[in-house]
Amino acid sequence: MLHPKPHEYEGHQPLLQLRGVCCGYGGKAALQDVDFNVARGDWVGILGPSGSGKSTLLKCILGSAEVYAGDVLFDGESVGRKRPRIGYVPQLETIDWQFPVTVEQVVMMGRTAENGWFPWFKKSEHEAAYGMMERLGILRLARRHIRELSGGEQQRVFLARALVCNPRLLLLDEPTSGLDIKTRDEILHLLDELNHQDVTILMTTHEINAVAAHLPWVVALNGRVVAEGTPAEVFTAPVLKEVYGAEIPVTTYQGMTLVAESPHHLGQTRASGIIHSHTHNDV
Ligand code: ADP
Repeated sequence: MLHPKPHEYEGHQPLLQLRGVCCGYGGKAALQDVDFNVARGDWVGILGPSGSGKSTLLKCILGSAEVYAGDVLFDGESVGRKRPRIGYVPQLETIDWQFPVTVEQVVMMGRTAENGWFPWFKKSEHEAAYGMMERLGILRLARRHIRELSGGEQQRVFLARALVCNPRLLLLDEPTSGLDIKTRDEILHLLDELNHQDVTILMTTHEINAVAAHLPWVVALNGRVVAEGTPAEVFTAPVLKEVYGAEIPVTTYQGMTLVAESPHHLGQTRASGIIHSHTHNDV
């Protein structure tokens, strides 16, 4: 049996460290001075409005956004040119669902990085993919085209692809976006189970009450880190005002800190004097 590295049992060195990171695209910074750590076993949610830099943060860890200053360290070493064992689940909206590929083929793609340039897979790799599909409850869908699946099944397929290389860190971009309430809760339970099986998770979400309020630790972004802590520590009126630029009342329900939704009266037409009332549902 391999001996774990010292930090894995002493818990001293974080798995992921961002130190004064400034990153973006085409020479323009989308995020400034980002400092935070993710320890082995953590489950961290990145929260913030649209355009606040949530996806960019994941891309900078993956090496697909430009880093202008600071360091991104994985296991104490700069991610730079290395290929650290990080699994990534992109936003479902960014995937081309017409691409002619089956569930099994998508999951096998997760092995390509380790397989180098060989255009075939070993028997053990097929077994790993089938084992992962079974673990995530999608084995019966193996031969189906990905377009024929429900949103929850599609999310599980891309989770399986990310997990089949046994990553030490799993990055997910809006894993519950576009899912109905029941499917969203199933995905959150699945992530909770994986987290209890030693999968370290860093994920983005724009859903405060439905998702972030249930996570053990959240980081609130708006071009920089505004606050981090438990949801109760981060969901305060001053922090939310800084993150969202609006007065957002906070309340508690069954011991959980939640963000209150106040109705907005928009679209008052002067000619008729009719007020169209809309409820803001984004939080
Ligand atoms: P979020 O995920 O919080 O919605 P993003 O990280 O996608 O925010 O975007 C942060 C900023 O970076 C935005 O101003 C966005 O326009 C810009 N941005 C995102 N992706 C790119 C890209 N590929 N090229 C140039 N600018 C980008």
